[in-house]
Amino acid sequence: MKPEGTLGSRLNEVLGRIAGAAGRSGRPPGGVRLIGVVKTVPAETVREAVRLGLGDLGENRVQEAADKIAAVGRDAARWHLVGHLQRNKAARALELFDCIHSVDSLELAGALSGRLAPGRRLPVLAEVNVSGETTKFGVAPEDLERLLEAVAALPGLEVRGLMTVGPAVLAPELARPAFARLRTLREQAERTLGRALPELSMGMSGDYEVAVEEGSTMVRVGTAIFGARPRRG
Ligand SMILES: *Cc1c(COP(=O)(O)O)cnc(C)c1O
Repeated sequence: MKPEGTLGSRLNEVLGRIAGAAGRSGRPPGGVRLIGVVKTVPAETVREAVRLGLGDLGENRVQEAADKIAAVGRDAARWHLVGHLQRNKAARALELFDCIHSVDSLELAGALSGRLAPGRRLPVLAEVNVSGETTKFGVAPEDLERLLEAVAALPGLEVRGLMTVGPAVLAPELARPAFARLRTLREQAERTLGRALPELSMGMSGDYEVAVEEGSTMVRVGTAIFGARPRRG
C-alpha cells in the first residue's frame, strides 16, 4: 500500500496531531518525543526522514537494526530499541542503541549492565504487559516494582520510565484504559521507589493521540509516517 502524501507531509501531520493531543492534556508539544519506527523501511527513506528533522529512530530487531544503522549512520539519530531483546544479543544491542525500551527481566538488565563500557550510562525503560495478552512481552504489573528496584541497583543502567504496547483493539479509544493504567503504575512506582520516572513510552500509529492525552512522553510511530509494512513471514 502506497501511503498518501509525501514523507514530509506525513511527518508534519503526525507532529501536528501530537501537538494537538499534548495541548488537550495541558502539555507543551515539546514534552512528547516522536520516535520514527523504521523496521523494514529502506535506508534511503530513513535518511530522508533524518534530513527532514526526525532525530529519534526505533527498530525492533537487533540484526535488522545493525544493517540499517550501518547504512544510515550510528550518529545520524538517537537509536531506540523498541522490540524484545534476547540476553545473548545484549552486547550487540549496546553497540547499536542509545536507549532500550524493552527491559522486562532482571536477567536481561543484568546482561546489559555487565556489558556496559566503563563510565557509560544507558537509559532504559521497563516494558510492562498491561493488557495481560499472552502474545505480548513485558513484566506483569504486579512484578514491576520488584524489577525496578533490582534494576536501579545495577551499575550503569538509568531507569527512565515505563513502556507498553497497547492492546489490539478496533478503535483507539479502547486503548485508553491501558495507557491510563501505565501512568498509574508509574505514579505508584515513583512513590514506592522515591524517585522520578519521567518517561512513558506508549502510543503507535493507531493510538498515539490517545496515548499522548494519557501522558505519553515518547510515541513510537511507523506506519503513519512510512506507510504499511510488507507482512513478515
Ligand atoms: C512496529 C512497532 C511500532 C510502530 O508500529 P506502527 O503501528 O507501525 O506505528 C511501535 N512499537 C513497537 C514495539 C513496534 O514493534
